[in-house]
Amino acid sequence: MTEKNIIELKGVEKRYGSFLAASGIDLDLRQGEFFSLLGPSGCGKTTVLRMIAGFQEPTQGAILIDGQDMAGVPANNRPTNMVFQSYAIFPHLNVANNVAYGLRGRVPKAEIDARVTEALEMVELGGLHQRGANELSGGQRQRVALARALIMRPKVLLLDEPLSALDKKLREQMQFEMRNLQQSLGITFVMVTHDQYEAMTMSDRIGVMFDGRLEQVDTPATLYARPCNRAVASFIGEMNILPATVLEETGGMLSIEAAGFGRMRIERNVNATDRARDIIVGIRPEQLEIKADKPADYPATLKGKISNVAFYGENIHYHVAVENIDKPIAVSVPNYFHTVDFNRGDAVWLGLQVASVIDLGKERKSS
Ligand code: ATP
Repeated sequence: MTEKNIIELKGVEKRYGSFLAASGIDLDLRQGEFFSLLGPSGCGKTTVLRMIAGFQEPTQGAILIDGQDMAGVPANNRPTNMVFQSYAIFPHLNVANNVAYGLRGRVPKAEIDARVTEALEMVELGGLHQRGANELSGGQRQRVALARALIMRPKVLLLDEPLSALDKKLREQMQFEMRNLQQSLGITFVMVTHDQYEAMTMSDRIGVMFDGRLEQVDTPATLYARPCNRAVASFIGEMNILPATVLEETGGMLSIEAAGFGRMRIERNVNATDRARDIIVGIRPEQLEIKADKPADYPATLKGKISNVAFYGENIHYHVAVENIDKPIAVSVPNYFHTVDFNRGDAVWLGLQVASVIDLGKERKSS
């Protein structure tokens, strides 16, 4: 990845009639990065991708690719290429002809042949030139669709939910493959997904969208550790949210009184910009320890009762009901010893490392 911006969105807005599908989008994408637009269905992420591709024009603002204003530039004249959700490849053509499709009539036949072979090798389909498109597995079809886009040598590859048609296992395999491919080619990939794990495992940075707005743009690790508000915190992984009152703020630290746990000092989250006396704080389920007896080695503890146990294999998720806290607290425990230690109805203690409590700022009504 370089520091050079390959795509710049400046104040981009898209209206469909009176409906605002995207608004106030300011975003710089770096050359060579894997960027994902993440958000729930209908939040406007495909709309943003389609505006970059040139299938739709913004109603306001500007899109620059490689420094050039794209206003009025049709999709086929942009240095971008798109891979669609349904990986629409032609069923009556063989693999080689599918991949060669966009180059036909543009470059000499010998060059097409060489580039088809090169593109098929990139996606690990070397030698499958003659195979009929309808004789391929779902994963192979997705790779043909990728090869067909890559053969055009785009500066930016746009991917609209590229893996959503695949089953879980294959999807996870393709996530690794696509990430490796992107890194070895050094092309900028911009992917739309509603799958937080997909976005986190594949991306250098993620832009989280809600209701047509870009809420936060950050690396997966920062989004997870320092989400800017409740909506982002709850969309990226699971988060226990508790109300808290700020007693004092000094030198980047907040002294707070947090529901159930009492007084503690936590770091002020620079990404949470809505400040108030009454705030909410977040605790990730894996940052709580669950014990049969009151733990002496934790600064903050809470007594509760197991209300639910879910076994995930590598870890176990407990829900712990606590008096005076509305929702059960989620706790995730690594399954080191392959045992389920607690059962529904057990009385337990929760231990909390205060340093892991995340300031989420003021509760927003809309989120
Ligand atoms: P999904 O994950 O379901 O594809 P998305 O986040 O990609 O969702 P968009 O496809 O960008 O969402 O759509 C954003 C909003 O704009 C939705 O409410 C959608 O119904 C609306 N919308 C999209 N295209 C049009 C259109 N051509 N005319 C009118 N409304 C549209």
